[in-house]
Amino acid sequence: MRVIRYVIVALVALTATTSAQSQQFETTQIADGVYQFRWQAHNSLFVVHAGQVVVIDPISSDAARQLASEIRRVAPSVNLRAIVYSHDHADHATGARVLREEFGMATPIVAHENALAKVEAVGDADLPPPDITFVERTTLHLGGKEVQLHYLGRSHSDNMVVAFLPDDRIAFAVDFVSNDRVGFRGLPDYHFPEFYETIGRLRLLDFETIVFGHGPPGDRATIDRQIAYYEDLRRAVTEAVGAGLSEDEAAASVRLPRYADWSAYDDWFELNVRAIYQWLAASG
Ligand SMILES: [Zn+2]
Repeated sequence: MRVIRYVIVALVALTATTSAQSQQFETTQIADGVYQFRWQAHNSLFVVHAGQVVVIDPISSDAARQLASEIRRVAPSVNLRAIVYSHDHADHATGARVLREEFGMATPIVAHENALAKVEAVGDADLPPPDITFVERTTLHLGGKEVQLHYLGRSHSDNMVVAFLPDDRIAFAVDFVSNDRVGFRGLPDYHFPEFYETIGRLRLLDFETIVFGHGPPGDRATIDRQIAYYEDLRRAVTEAVGAGLSEDEAAASVRLPRYADWSAYDDWFELNVRAIYQWLAASG
């Protein structure tokens, strides 16, 4: 009897461990040769074609070790064509050194030209500076498959790159948009008013599916809802400013119940209000 109970306890412990590990990362096939790799709360995208792979966002050293293993699982003996930084922020990019160690130290890193000085200033060995930078658009070729990289303007950071796969009609956009989630906390490193123009330009890319740096993928309607959210937010805060409310009063009273079921609304919506308030107050 005692033996049986020990076996059951051991099985429960094993199940709990397996479940925790499976939640740490997840690779989801979005289309043929196109994968979302999730590490904890961060996503990267990798594209495999003709014996080559491109990784957009190596995330972190721990993530990159797992990502390398996942790439080899779905595409054994593939060559890493390039690493792309969606933008310069460390939480999406510091796996680059590990990916180079895994696949070759000469692997080029591609980023927007505004990212170069910022990455160099950080001086982190896990975040090597880009070898190739561009201004408006560049294209990586994997055999006949195009991975287009677009700079749509300042949004979250001044160097945000959106990847677009024309054959698959898939886009990958990080941090400045997401799937039915309010903006990240107090909208750090957001640039207004250009942010509004940049999210509008996302519609110019002919995607059908869009993968995000955080959360689940979406579609064109997902982007329309993001645009509507930020327009409604600006309108509501503009009214609060016009009514003479202080920032604290606006944070306490401005609400958009339409978005109350979005993720992070309870935690971050007030911080979004404060960020827009500060922008509007500073711009008069
Ligand atoms: Zn960021």
